[in-house]
Amino acid sequence: MTSKKILVTGGAGYIGAHTVVELYTNGYSPVVIDNFSKSDRTLLEGIEKITGIPVVFYEGDCADKEFLKRVFKKEGKFDGVMHFAAYKSVGESVEQPIMYYRNNLDSLLTLLEVMKEQRVNNLIFSSSCTVYGEPDTIPVDEQAPFKKAESPYGATKQMCEQILEDVVKADQNLNVISLRYFNPIGAHPSAMLGELPIDKPNNLVPYITQTAAGIREKLVIFGDDYDTSDGTCIRDFIHIVDLAAAHVKAIDKLSEAGENKGYQYYNLGTGRGVSVLQLVKEFIEVAGIKLNYEMGPRRAGDVVKTYANPTKAKNDLNWSAQYTAKDALRDAWAWEKKISTSRK
Ligand code: UDP
Repeated sequence: MTSKKILVTGGAGYIGAHTVVELYTNGYSPVVIDNFSKSDRTLLEGIEKITGIPVVFYEGDCADKEFLKRVFKKEGKFDGVMHFAAYKSVGESVEQPIMYYRNNLDSLLTLLEVMKEQRVNNLIFSSSCTVYGEPDTIPVDEQAPFKKAESPYGATKQMCEQILEDVVKADQNLNVISLRYFNPIGAHPSAMLGELPIDKPNNLVPYITQTAAGIREKLVIFGDDYDTSDGTCIRDFIHIVDLAAAHVKAIDKLSEAGENKGYQYYNLGTGRGVSVLQLVKEFIEVAGIKLNYEMGPRRAGDVVKTYANPTKAKNDLNWSAQYTAKDALRDAWAWEKKISTSRK
């Protein structure tokens, strides 16, 4: 039996690249597209080192319809698509909303048009816990309403999910699973693959590891006066390899024979809430080093407290997180040491 071919948009990015590894190791044939707007070729090399397989790759923009059509034509029919290509920084989206709406909506709409033309019917979409806004109750399950998004980034994810729900309603053949990520952190345990921000990192863990490696002078914790146990925000930090593995479970589910599966959505988190300060302390413990950090003002667009109820993914996808936040921090630090040494 030939293995199933999956188009992976944004496959050279942090979540995409780890998922490509899981796809290969589970017998799928991923085909990566990426425009390197927020990534470079390093992670593709990492995938090849881990799997020993040369990545099938096309450079281009997911919002470029002619480019997408060329890829579909060249590769023949895909069994499914995983759509990672999007901007993902809360803070940046507050500063550059037009760029976020344009990029995140255009790429999904273009992809859906081309999938329809090419009769490709299975899609896994990268959504986010930001769709819930500031949730009324935590842990958050999938029944929680979409409250007003705290940032343009969160709003793009809400809009994309609305688009997907409407498109699925209108097309009996289309099956979509949106995966609502909590906070992916860490790196591949081999230290061959990890997060690689091309500029100054926006996310917490790469900022921590770059500070520890001496690339950044100090970490600023954005707000210590929130209504939480230690005043800092609460998140559900999930190991990137766990998150990647869930995508394979999701595409397995869509690939099962049977009737139309419609529109489904799942939280991907550990179910454990950890404060930003707690995570920083866990990092210091795991890495066994000092870290220069200080408390600073709140960041616009931040949700205060959120963590997942991941029961639905466990029941329907037979998936649950296996790693702890400490495992993820240890792996992130091993990766940072490796890349910062190779950059010197
Ligand atoms: N954060 C911080 N300092 C940083 C980066 C992030 O204190 O340099 C905080 C941020 O305010 C939030 C948490 O860490 O409370 C997680 O932020 P991140 O950007 O990693 O993910 P988000 O939850 O925004 O998707």
